[in-house]
Amino acid sequence: SAGTEARAEGGDDTVEGVRISSAGRVVYPDAGLTKGEVAQHYARVGERMLTHAGDRPLSLLRCPEGIAGECFFQKHAGKGFPDAIGTLPIEEKDGETEDYMYVTTPAGLVGAAQMGTLEFHIWGSRRDRIERPDRLVFDIDPDEGLDFAEIRRAASEIRQGLDACGLPSVPMVTGGKGIHVIVPLRRISGWDTVKFFARTFATIMAERDPDRYVATMSKARRKGRVFIDWLRNERGATAVAPYSLRARKSAAVAVPVTWDELDTLDRADGFGVADMEDRLSRDCPLDAVDAKGIGDTVVSALEDWSRG
Ligand code: ATP
Ligand code: MN
Ligand code: MN
Repeated sequence: SAGTEARAEGGDDTVEGVRISSAGRVVYPDAGLTKGEVAQHYARVGERMLTHAGDRPLSLLRCPEGIAGECFFQKHAGKGFPDAIGTLPIEEKDGETEDYMYVTTPAGLVGAAQMGTLEFHIWGSRRDRIERPDRLVFDIDPDEGLDFAEIRRAASEIRQGLDACGLPSVPMVTGGKGIHVIVPLRRISGWDTVKFFARTFATIMAERDPDRYVATMSKARRKGRVFIDWLRNERGATAVAPYSLRARKSAAVAVPVTWDELDTLDRADGFGVADMEDRLSRDCPLDAVDAKGIGDTVVSALEDWSRG
């Protein structure tokens, strides 16, 4: 906005009790969004976002010079991080223990924005039971040039398959190119089971319709197809958090929508910070879902579905 542009780049601002340095610095040149406005976005969506992103290990995508500068993922807390960003030790595959970050308050999100964070990425499990995922996500990654209608169709077919397995799901437009189909889970099984389910499900989709879907990362095989990226469901993997801004030109926000609303959308990066007031006035579609666990019943339903 003109008011923010008028403020000196060096000017500070206070958001959610957090001092934001260089609040007037433009971090999204095309959209004209400033660092202060990024902080305000996280203050505004904070409570809503934390119901999904709070109390989980996080990775931060930091772009201290804005999206035109260098950006980097950060998995572990660094020097000078505010107290509002908590740390929790997690044992990694190699047996080493590392401190991961988590937030529980809007001030934590804003504090990360003060450190140049634009995107928040979350684990599929929460801090109190790190070995029991409470969400599963299929990350729909289209090849360049595929129509959004084709991406919507992929999401809808994933939904149907999940329904057949007894698992309700919610779509989220990522603010980038694709859609994440999110399955809130009851925490009755561990990472191995959830990963097995995700891999098997994506593989069946690709075997049934090999002209449209692939379940492997290979770029060559993706040609004209949709990659159903199930690899977000491994211990330690992340997916972009609901209501996170994206470090992309459009300054879009990742937004969960209802299945009906998805039919009306023609792009994944159509929501920006200016749409948040409207989104917050509606219930979050993720909260409307009755979470189910992946147990024997779901696994045998998956087997039936794979034969059907
Ligand atoms: P799009 O809809 O444009 O694909 P996306 O968020 O799904 O947006 P992907 O590249 O498909 O982007 O990545 C999926 C998820 O994998 C990301 O949201 C992120 O959490 C994680 N991820 C991707 N690349 C990295 C990376 N270099 N380091 C850490 N995590 C990553
Ligand atoms: Mn993706
Ligand atoms: Mn992906």
